[in-house]
Amino acid sequence: MAKSSLATSVVAANPSNYTLGRKGYKICKITPHHMASVLTAAQCGKIFQSPNRNASANYGIGNDGGIAQYVDEDNRAWTSSSVSNDCQAITIEVSNSSIGGDYPVSKAAWNSLVNLCVDICKRYNFRLVYDGTPNGSLTKHNMFSKTQCPGNYLENKLPELAKEVNAILDGANQAPESPAPPTYSRKIGDKVTINGVYVASNSTKKLNPARTTGTITRIVVGALNPYLLDNGNLGWVNDNVIVNSSEAPSNEPVKKDINTIAEEVIKGLWGNGAERKKRLVDAGYNFEEIQKLVNKKLK
Ligand SMILES: [Zn+2]
Repeated sequence: MAKSSLATSVVAANPSNYTLGRKGYKICKITPHHMASVLTAAQCGKIFQSPNRNASANYGIGNDGGIAQYVDEDNRAWTSSSVSNDCQAITIEVSNSSIGGDYPVSKAAWNSLVNLCVDICKRYNFRLVYDGTPNGSLTKHNMFSKTQCPGNYLENKLPELAKEVNAILDGANQAPESPAPPTYSRKIGDKVTINGVYVASNSTKKLNPARTTGTITRIVVGALNPYLLDNGNLGWVNDNVIVNSSEAPSNEPVKKDINTIAEEVIKGLWGNGAERKKRLVDAGYNFEEIQKLVNKKLK
């Protein structure tokens, strides 16, 4: 069993999606992939939990920089379309920060990728060498099959990744801080009104411009458009297009008006003396105000 201490969760891939062991190969490579999607590490891991998906990775890094393990480092994940590469590599799926174009990656995800690579290199005692061929210790999916993976953005930054990781291994640079995931003031259940710009999966496609209100049904931390409205019927939005919102109703019991409570007190439903006071205060009522009304009614 081998897992980086940087992985804060394990989303175990279905055993039909990887191979036990590494055919005796030593771990001496890292292969970063891109998710071609904006996901958290846990969301990507769920994909590899479907039986017979025939794909997996050792780790995933979410758009928020969160790291999850999917396949134990002792085992060969099916990620790079190359048995020999995947036997020697720890493979890492990295979330994009938006879909299409160069398939960029967030700063948080990049920092986590750097830190995870440093951790792997330290534990297995190798440096990152990127020479554009499968012989280097930093390899990419499109060396082995016709695929866009790892996307232009990550592909162009592979030399920089090797440089940055090696500098940290040499003690010349400090490890980057993984920024804390952003927090959102809005929460699931909030009703929002938006200015008419609806987006699907972080593209700019308008979905349903006729409607302007919806309920937040999912939040993907770190995504460009983090709020999913009405389970996708209204698409994804961000704070910039929300013009108004009302909070989800809380679970607090609805308060009765003080006249009703005073009547209940008179009927004896709230007890007497100290007990009455305690129960009224605990339920969120102003004891003095209600008692005054009770006294008035009883006169
Ligand atoms: Zn890939």
